[in-house]
Amino acid sequence: MQTDSDTLHFLDDESIDTSVKEAVWRLMVVDDEPDVHRATTFALAGIRILGRPLQFLHAYSAAEATTMLQSEPDVAVVLLDVVMEHENAGLALVKTIRQTLKLTDLRIILRTGQPGYAPEIETIHDFDINDYKTKSELTRTKLYATVTAALRAYEQIRKLDELAFYDRLSSLPNRNKFVDLSEERLRSGSYPDDVIAILDLDDFAEINDALGHQQGDRLLQAVADRLKLELGPAVILARIGGDTFGLMGPRSVMDPATVLSLFRKPFVMQDDSMVVTSTMGITSILGDGISGRDALKDANIALKRAKKSRRGGFVMFSAEMGSDIRERVRLLQSLRSAVESERLFIVYQPQVNLGTGAVVGVEALIRWRNEDGSFVPPDRFIPLAEASGMIVAIGDWVLRMACHELVRLQAMGLADLRMSVNVSQIQFRHPDFIEKLNAALIDTRINPKCLELEITESVAMEDPGFMLDTLNLVRELGISIAIDDFGTGYSSLSHLRELPIDRLKIDRAFVTELSQRVSGGHIASMVIELGRNLNLTVIAEGIEEEAQAATLREMGCHEGQGYLYAKPLTANQLKEWLEARLPS
Ligand code: C2E
Ligand code: MG
Ligand code: MG
Repeated sequence: MQTDSDTLHFLDDESIDTSVKEAVWRLMVVDDEPDVHRATTFALAGIRILGRPLQFLHAYSAAEATTMLQSEPDVAVVLLDVVMEHENAGLALVKTIRQTLKLTDLRIILRTGQPGYAPEIETIHDFDINDYKTKSELTRTKLYATVTAALRAYEQIRKLDELAFYDRLSSLPNRNKFVDLSEERLRSGSYPDDVIAILDLDDFAEINDALGHQQGDRLLQAVADRLKLELGPAVILARIGGDTFGLMGPRSVMDPATVLSLFRKPFVMQDDSMVVTSTMGITSILGDGISGRDALKDANIALKRAKKSRRGGFVMFSAEMGSDIRERVRLLQSLRSAVESERLFIVYQPQVNLGTGAVVGVEALIRWRNEDGSFVPPDRFIPLAEASGMIVAIGDWVLRMACHELVRLQAMGLADLRMSVNVSQIQFRHPDFIEKLNAALIDTRINPKCLELEITESVAMEDPGFMLDTLNLVRELGISIAIDDFGTGYSSLSHLRELPIDRLKIDRAFVTELSQRVSGGHIASMVIELGRNLNLTVIAEGIEEEAQAATLREMGCHEGQGYLYAKPLTANQLKEWLEARLPS
């Protein structure tokens, strides 16, 4: 918690230099008549406004004022004559101040000897002119009041700027400011050797929890201080997130090994000292068309990689990493539009009883056909839909479509036909999952006994308590549960024994193995044996050859699914396929 919210320090380098001296307000008088300069300084001589004395700068033409403003920092107010070198010199200067010099905090008071030269209301508004006065109005009292109002406005704008652009804890620029500063530096084109980096403290959340937020804040402060001191003024340093710092500077100063070595010595906070490491993502691809914001994204991509595989070290961004991500983003966008334009559909793959050959069920499998007619495989887009949360809506849609299809199929005379629907873990963990499941049952009026949910083994073994509760709720609705891709995860037998499940689905890899002489179906037979012991039905997926089916049958596997029987079929194809098999 910060209690000193009123203490706002000015953060530019200049104010650090002048902090020993008394702070002053810097006023610039711009007027071609020397008399006006004299009268103004005389009127305001020795006065303090809002606790500070005034310091005057004098320019006698718009051109001179422009030059001065380029080099003189922190000018708070300009008292500006409208008519100087030419009729519009004053207003032109206003435009230069706002648009070219980008001095937006600076307050402007326009003055004119002739009332006829008052600027248009729009001009006053567009160029953020504080006040407009005729020179006769600028008596001592009026001048004092006008300047005070302008200074007060200036101070408020600066404070707002600080809140919007600086981090209060470290006094460093924040993310917005970092983007602005880096953009400016990139635009200037004068730093071709620059790199941009993001530095992220390792395990900061844990440190914060263990030592308390105050100590965490102090650590951040200590890190900020050291980085600033050691990297020096050539590097733009910003706090761009809770425990992340943005850096931009010349390659020579920002050598990653050197920057990371700054973390070797412990950080001293009050009576404590501690060692913390950090991980860095860097990009040096800053040329053409890459904005500061883009560069920051790239550095972040590199950082994420580093966090995964190289904690305490760094990863340099490469263009190929970016295209990976951009490719994913593109895919995600087209998935979104595929959902909207209903280019997703469902195919159904039959499941048979290995002993009798009778059809016992179908598995619903989602398909996405691109606009160009090509298919995107579910293994590619499901992880993306999961990461974006879209899987919740997609999964709900699949469930409903599958239930409706089941109604149609059962009407063909297959009263006990089972419908298997794959459920992603994101969907499964969604708080509304059970409710949606129930609503689908009610709306489609299917017999819950004919619906089966497939969850993968790895999902089933995660967070056992939660799984147990949720699976029990599913079971209470009357729905059965199959563990998909069984054999690929690492199930603990005791845990598996506890779960309310109906079926184990042997992963395709172990069925394929059956035709290879060497390892010879070892895992498939183990799974079947396990099923027998736990009293579960076992189904094998990916059966492509009759020989595989025969072996599985011998091993005691109950059901099978695979190209040998049928590929996944559209609803119409399935209907034909079923009709051909039905006894007429
Ligand atoms: P899965 O649930 O294990 O589905 C079985 C996959 O094996 C399907 O791939 C199916 O087309 C394929 N397959 C079936 N028989 C054979 C065969 O004999 N030979 C070969 N080589 N392959 C066979 P698909 O349709 O590409 O689906 C891949 C995965 O995507 C599925 O694996 C499932 O995990 C996921 N998926 C599909 N639809 C959905 C869905 O609606 N929701 C969720 N959450 N996941 C889905
Ligand atoms: Mg499946
Ligand atoms: Mg599977």
